[in-house]
Amino acid sequence: MLILNCPYCGCDKDETELSAGGEAHLKRFGPGASDAEFEGYLFGRVNPKGVHFERWRCASGCGKWFHAARCTATLEVFGTYKAQTLEPPQAIKDAISAKRPGWTWRDFS
Ligand SMILES: [Zn+2]
Repeated sequence: MLILNCPYCGCDKDETELSAGGEAHLKRFGPGASDAEFEGYLFGRVNPKGVHFERWRCASGCGKWFHAARCTATLEVFGTYKAQTLEPPQAIKDAISAKRPGWTWRDFS
């Protein structure tokens, strides 16, 4: 079972107490974007076997959205952080790099 810690209320919740919100750190495109950029924003999602960054909502607790870094193959959680963060905190990047040598993350800007 997947257990995540809400960074707002500090509670450990299992996945049945949370709502999944899909991929985190999507780059949003507005009216000035090309059709391909906007289509990618609306429909393009990664579904890796391995490290993934996801949005979750603390549905049975504080109700706030947060991000989680975890491995989709092993359910290992590298950390959770507030949803207003534009990229994963360095401590989480370091934790992932320590456990998955050679792993690189995408450009979040
Ligand atoms: Zn919470």
